[in-house]
Amino acid sequence: MTRPPGTGELAARFQSAFGVAPDGVWQAPGRVNLIGEHTDYNEGFVLPFAIDKAARVAVRIRPDSTLRLLSTFGNQGMTTADAAALDRGTARGWTKYPLGVLWALQQRGLPVPGLDILLASDVPRGAGLSSSHAIECAVITALNELTAAGLGVDEMVLATRQAENDFVGAPTGIMDQTASLRGAAGQAVFLDCRDRSFRLVPFDAESAGLVTLVIDTKVSHSHSAGGYAARRASCELGSEVLGVKALRDVELEDLAEAAGLLDDKTFRRVRHVVTENNRVLQILELLGSAGPAAIGPVLDASHASMRDDFEISCAELDLAVRAARSAGALGARMTGGGFGGSAIALTPVAAQRQVRAAVEQAFGAAGFAPPDIFTVRPAAGALRLA
Ligand code: ADP
Ligand code: MG
Repeated sequence: MTRPPGTGELAARFQSAFGVAPDGVWQAPGRVNLIGEHTDYNEGFVLPFAIDKAARVAVRIRPDSTLRLLSTFGNQGMTTADAAALDRGTARGWTKYPLGVLWALQQRGLPVPGLDILLASDVPRGAGLSSSHAIECAVITALNELTAAGLGVDEMVLATRQAENDFVGAPTGIMDQTASLRGAAGQAVFLDCRDRSFRLVPFDAESAGLVTLVIDTKVSHSHSAGGYAARRASCELGSEVLGVKALRDVELEDLAEAAGLLDDKTFRRVRHVVTENNRVLQILELLGSAGPAAIGPVLDASHASMRDDFEISCAELDLAVRAARSAGALGARMTGGGFGGSAIALTPVAAQRQVRAAVEQAFGAAGFAPPDIFTVRPAAGALRLA
């Protein structure tokens, strides 16, 4: 995927599309989740990082209430709406993300002016790298500044969640936008989803001679809604039977007893969440004591748990992980909600070539469509570019 146009080029495109210069240009990154899958809605821990792929928006406030939205992606043409008449259920296609953010601001009693918005993004769509939150976080950061709304980051996290949940209709949590808004170069974001407290954690794979490879299987995760809802329901059932507020409150030591109280499937769902929470903490500890090269086995264990206990992997993800590992990756796991999307493979720089080749070769031999393979590194969170 090519870089999005630079600030000057984006401003020039804005000028030619809208006939005026933008008031500014903002950027917010996608994210990859290093570890902590399906732990967020169980009030547990996650450890994502903001990546060096981002959505950029050039924005101008208009004197009226008209909204004009344009993306450099595809040939979709300009969408027009009215800031005074934003309505759930009317927005279509990609504009639901920026419009959802504007709507969420209005729900907070904040005035939303008419706007011209041009979007350019190099976050792959639907690959589990949260291209949707990159858009939302770029837009909310721009609006917060342009309208002097004075929202703190915590409030922006909640507003973008409201946009996704209630306007877009995607039942997502707070991980993606927290990473996109709070990320920093060379750091992962440890987030406690119970109280939203966070801490930046150094994750400097490069200094350790490693790269984080993303293997985008190109398998669409857009049909995962049913599976996602079913997993959430299993987790709710598990916590109800075990008598806890959320699975966050179940300890590793409680699992033996839980096995006797739950049916086999619910038990395996619960075991994934409980062990995954523990793996997030293990990785935190390992990053502090030994550095990135030590976390491989924990990534592998996470993948096995998602494949066997939570059952959210697929043949392409399993193959990507297996091929990467046997060609020299230190550890690999599917990342994101599952049923498709991407895997990550923590790979020594010296083995990068052979890992890429092995995954491509394995996909070809299995008759799968060629994957997209690229590196990501922890990058800055949302910011103003111009
Ligand atoms: P993910 O967030 O995992 O990438 P989603 O389905 O949540 O997947 O969001 C993908 C959607 O975001 C796309 O279908 C599209 O509507 C929108 N989107 C992402 N990038 C762009 C872009 N550059 N231009 C227009 N829309 C985009
Ligand atoms: Mg998304």
